[in-house]
Amino acid sequence: MTLHIPFANTYGTLPAQLFTRMQPTSVTQPSLIAFNETLASELGISATSDTEELARIFGGNALPDGADPMAQLYSGHQFGHWNPQLGDGRALLLGDVETPEGRFDIQLKGSGPTVYSRNGDGRAWLGPVLREYVVSEAMHALGVPTTRALAAVATGESVYRETALPGAVITRVASSHIRVGTFQAMSARQDMEGLKALFEHAVERHYPNATDPLSFLKAVIAAQTKLVSKWMSLGFIHGVMNTDNCAISGETIDYGPCAFMDAFHPMQVFSSIDRNGRYAYGSQPDIIVWNMAQLATSLIPLMPDAEQAVEVFTEAVHAMPKMLHDAWLTEFRAKIGISTPHADDGALIQNLLAILAEEKADFTNSFRALADNIANPPLDQSEDFKAWQTRWRKRIENENDPEALMRATNPFVIPRNHQIEAMIQAAVDGDYALFHKLNDVLATPYETSTDALPYTTPPTEDERVKATFC
Ligand code: AMP
Ligand code: MG
Ligand code: MG
Repeated sequence: MTLHIPFANTYGTLPAQLFTRMQPTSVTQPSLIAFNETLASELGISATSDTEELARIFGGNALPDGADPMAQLYSGHQFGHWNPQLGDGRALLLGDVETPEGRFDIQLKGSGPTVYSRNGDGRAWLGPVLREYVVSEAMHALGVPTTRALAAVATGESVYRETALPGAVITRVASSHIRVGTFQAMSARQDMEGLKALFEHAVERHYPNATDPLSFLKAVIAAQTKLVSKWMSLGFIHGVMNTDNCAISGETIDYGPCAFMDAFHPMQVFSSIDRNGRYAYGSQPDIIVWNMAQLATSLIPLMPDAEQAVEVFTEAVHAMPKMLHDAWLTEFRAKIGISTPHADDGALIQNLLAILAEEKADFTNSFRALADNIANPPLDQSEDFKAWQTRWRKRIENENDPEALMRATNPFVIPRNHQIEAMIQAAVDGDYALFHKLNDVLATPYETSTDALPYTTPPTEDERVKATFC
């Protein structure tokens, strides 16, 4: 084999109850859709132009040298309900690699059933694979901590989701796949050996300065605060913030029914499976606090005194709403060109958001337009917006280069749901041009570009995506 991946495989040294070693299931006709060469080279993966070899490896038909494939165990709260037995039901960790930027997992998703598949087929269909590829790479370019996409391979097989659909495998790269649910799995089983080993591994890997469970919890809380504030600032709705989809690293993970909002609504929901709106846009900061409380609970057995642990963990979790509010303020101040905080900025931001909601204005384009608005205020403004604009202009009078700050924080282009759906439809029909085009324009989302212009238009009523599926 010519492809070389510098595996270190540290997860495999942990107690065996954390995973099950397994092989991917071969597919009939693997064909390469995409290979992320930039990411590959960052990971120290040797270059190869042999697309058949890439398709075999990232379709699960051939193992790269040094791989130690395994399904990882985890538990989790799904929509608030405890599920003790989850785990990689359709994914396999090939191994982790050591790079100058740190350690990264390389994982196949859609590579066949595992011991944790329950009733699932272990497969993925092309649509979610391409959505995850485009959206996770776009998130990275937008500056949001996220898993990455290394490869997408069509399997040549059908996957049945009410109807027959083309199958695919995505290769995901993450700084780790350790979830809140991984800690929950060991803790719920009262498996002290597994819990301690997992804790030490996670500390060493993600938060080497966290010497005890409390400082570890605080570090995860800080990382998740930053992450969710970024989501809020971009109008991103994760859609399935179950504790098993919440990474200890603070990266966005599991792009299922996720979506970026077009028209602003503070409680927007897209996910077809989120029937009660638990994971609505505006609920994300509350839910992440709830998830961190579950992490805290799972760490209690690591503390010498449970009562004292409850006390200090509760305090750490209770500090989070204020942290989230402060981080949210910082993000949104920047979006309106403010770098020196004032006490009443929150009200100014809330006032703008209320106007956007009232006018069902496009979230992304409205913020992006603010930078241009300074020189050329648009003519078709509502009275409410004009009044807001007057206050805002006065507020930013003494700010240093607010236009530059706004252009660096308000993207020109985002992955819009209707474009993603059109891209998936074309790909199902065998045309990957839009998939490649979206990857291309979304690589530099803060640049004004005529190339990206067609992808900045909000959907027409007919194009509007009302629900997303995974
Ligand atoms: P998700 O909603 O994608 O985060 O998945 C929740 C759980 O269901 C995880 O344990 C997945 O591995 C499992 N799962 C999802 N889809 C499948 C599938 N097609 N086959 C087997 N397991 C699956
Ligand atoms: Mg095992
Ligand atoms: Mg998941």
